Amino acid sequence: MLPRTADIVIIGGGCMGTSVAYYLAERGAGNIVLVEREKFLGMGSTGRNAGGVRYQFSTAVNIHLSIFSLDVLAHFEELFGISAGYRPIGYLFLLTTPQEVAQFQANVALQQRVGVPWVRYLEPNDIAALVPLVNLEGVLGGTFCPRDGLADPYSVTQGFAKGARARGVQIETETNVVGIQTEHGRVTGVVTDRGTMSTRTIVNCAGPWAAQIGKMAGVEIPIVPLRRQFFTTDALPQIPRDHPMTIEFTTSLYFHPEGAGLLIGMSNPDEKPGDTYAIDEEFHLKTLERALYRLPILENARVASQIAGLYEVTPDAHPILAQARALEGFYIAAGFSGHGFQHSPATGKVMSELILDGRATSIDISMLDLERFAEGRLIREVNVV
Ligand SMILES: Cc1cc2nc3c(=O)[nH]c(=O)nc-3n(C[C@H](O)[C@H](O)[C@H](O)COP(=O)(O)OP(=O)(O)OC[C@H]3O[C@@H](n4cnc5c(N)ncnc54)[C@H](O)[C@@H]3O)c2cc1C
Repeated sequence: MLPRTADIVIIGGGCMGTSVAYYLAERGAGNIVLVEREKFLGMGSTGRNAGGVRYQFSTAVNIHLSIFSLDVLAHFEELFGISAGYRPIGYLFLLTTPQEVAQFQANVALQQRVGVPWVRYLEPNDIAALVPLVNLEGVLGGTFCPRDGLADPYSVTQGFAKGARARGVQIETETNVVGIQTEHGRVTGVVTDRGTMSTRTIVNCAGPWAAQIGKMAGVEIPIVPLRRQFFTTDALPQIPRDHPMTIEFTTSLYFHPEGAGLLIGMSNPDEKPGDTYAIDEEFHLKTLERALYRLPILENARVASQIAGLYEVTPDAHPILAQARALEGFYIAAGFSGHGFQHSPATGKVMSELILDGRATSIDISMLDLERFAEGRLIREVNVV
């Protein structure tokens, strides 16, 4: 049964909501209720993502979120009793313009300075030795971090949920939030299709739908849902299972081993905001064509499945990790712009600090406030596709 009151209500049962629930409960934050409208956890973006995890970002805050998170993912089984399936196969960025080379060399310098000593710049000969099956025509250089790789979003979400439940968090699925109650500039309750809970603290972890929850509270949140799609192939025994995740930065084409085949995706620069999961066949063919160019061996494979999901995009490709200044008790942890799964551990940790201590101390997230958009303090992350 849905309780009448809660100290904290978390909206959204993806990797973010469950992580926030776990880290709050670990601190003994009181009665915490997580509500999710679907029948199961992880059915939003969390259940439709490519599973990539990496240190290679171009801003210090993203790199810090990765350092904390990848450490948790690497030790997930010790912490949560379930493996996160972390496989450090490395991320290889292929660069085809002098501007990209300069930018990525600067990224490597920043990453090494901030605490990622394993990342390095590669010349075309080194790249050819690393990925001999890839057509390197036009590639001027690349960057490689051997500790980047893959992990399993479903296991991570289940691990956080298990840890949260064990610490007393009540997780209520099939519970749709339809309203937020406020009084004198602060949160007072959450209205759902199963009843109303009074609370003084809400954490909006609704991913691509975070702006809708904001609207219910009268808070404008600039996050839009944007379709992204990928496909998998059947077996490709010629490609080693530890083949690096490879990304052609200019086109955003990426591929990595998945099962006995590959997972291949590309971002459509012309995609308009919307929440459809329908496959865009025309763009699928474009992706296929580009993938065949970079990886001719794909001629031997068949498409096994196609999946579309929603990125949760902010104007500066950085998340909002903050309390809304205009509404006390209304916290937002959303807007990861397509790379959130890998930052879910750090997100739970910093949000628990922000809510319980008034300030995050593990990582400085003060620049990830909601008001930066209205006040023109956007942060530039170039290393997202
Ligand atoms: C195609 C694709 C590939 C991706 N690849 C990667 C990758 O390689 N690496 C990476 O790190 N990230 C990747 N991402 C991004 C990643 O999936 C997201 O950043 C992450 O899953 C966001 O998690 P979340 O918990 O915030 O959102 P979600 O998983 O979407 O969770 C939000 C939840 O809120 C619930 N909800 C919404 N409204 C309500 C309501 N009114 N009442 C109750 N519940 C509600 C939804 O049902 C949903 O379950 C990818 C995304 C896509 C689409």
